Amino acid sequence: MEIRVEGLTKHYVAEGRTVKALDRVDLTIPANRIFTLLGPSGCGKTTLLRCIVGLETPDDGEIRIGDEVVWSRARGIAVPTEKRGLGMVFQTYAIWPHMSVFDNVAYPLQVRGVERATIGKKVAAALHFVQLDGLDRRSATRLSGGQQQRVALARALVAEPKVILFDEPLSNLDAKLREETRKELKRFLGELDITAVYVTHDRVEALALSDSIAVMRAGSIVEIGSPQKIYFHADHRFVADFIGRANLIPVTVRGSSGEFTVVDSALGRFACAPRDLAPGSAATLCLRPEFLHLHEGAAIPDHNGVTGRIESLAFVGEVYEAEIRVADLLLLARTGPDTQLREGDTVSFTVTPEHCLLVSA
Ligand code: ATP
Repeated sequence: MEIRVEGLTKHYVAEGRTVKALDRVDLTIPANRIFTLLGPSGCGKTTLLRCIVGLETPDDGEIRIGDEVVWSRARGIAVPTEKRGLGMVFQTYAIWPHMSVFDNVAYPLQVRGVERATIGKKVAAALHFVQLDGLDRRSATRLSGGQQQRVALARALVAEPKVILFDEPLSNLDAKLREETRKELKRFLGELDITAVYVTHDRVEALALSDSIAVMRAGSIVEIGSPQKIYFHADHRFVADFIGRANLIPVTVRGSSGEFTVVDSALGRFACAPRDLAPGSAATLCLRPEFLHLHEGAAIPDHNGVTGRIESLAFVGEVYEAEIRVADLLLLARTGPDTQLREGDTVSFTVTPEHCLLVSA
């Protein structure tokens, strides 16, 4: 089911100060996809999710789930949460420790007054789906963190919602389990015809899990796109910076040369992936560390070649991260684990124009 949000506004008043948590948000969340709201702490992700769920009352705007308007100030509509046909999974697993796995998962059906035999079948199907067969009589607390999160997912799915909402569901798991559970979740959701709205501030989680990502800042949506679009072809400096490690260099646009946009910067001249920018205008050059190809010695004078000195070299597992000093700038580059480079070495790097991304100033 598609979700449409129009002109959604929400303020909070706390300690005499007014905070604009949502600032006239317009958004269409496509049906049967995993759609992620990503952004720094306090940007309004949870508020937007809670407005969709009906746990928060907006000040203005409209929310539609499928064909139904579930909230509208102008039309005086406010459908209660339990009538919106949603499933929810939150950061704290929110499973009840004193209850068995079965009773936890059965709860949404029991409150709807579903008959016992049907509850039994639906709970068994939900537990089978999340691969917890045979654990139905176990106390919910005698499960691992990952299993508890799967119980929460089974409970959210048991009433067969058309939309499921997740608020940072993996943030209480350790790094390895988080990665495993994320993969499982993607597989589970891929097997269902369900619209998933996922809130996180973890960019790797957003990239790995989502079909589409909306990046938020200060109550507004800055940019929406596929993980690849957001990572490789962002339009905004804020988005390019938030979604991954980035060297961001102020530039002035000179014009175009063949298929490339040419810019000048403190690092010299760069031929960049084409962008429709007026000569003389200011922009930002985004160079991802993985695309800086390091060589020993000075660069051959050319577009897109820069010479500097390795100020630090840190082994971080699969790669070395090198900080390269070029005049006032310190640039981050990655180089393979078999590198012969050392701190203090003079190095040069080149970046192909396709990997020179121009974003807003
Ligand atoms: P996080 O990633 O930290 O959960 P978020 O992006 O989900 O952040 P929200 O929780 O939606 O952000 O909060 C948006 C803004 O509204 C923040 O400035 C927050 O302090 C404020 N806010 C949220 N809930 C309340 C509340 N109940 N009372 C007052 N202010 C609130």
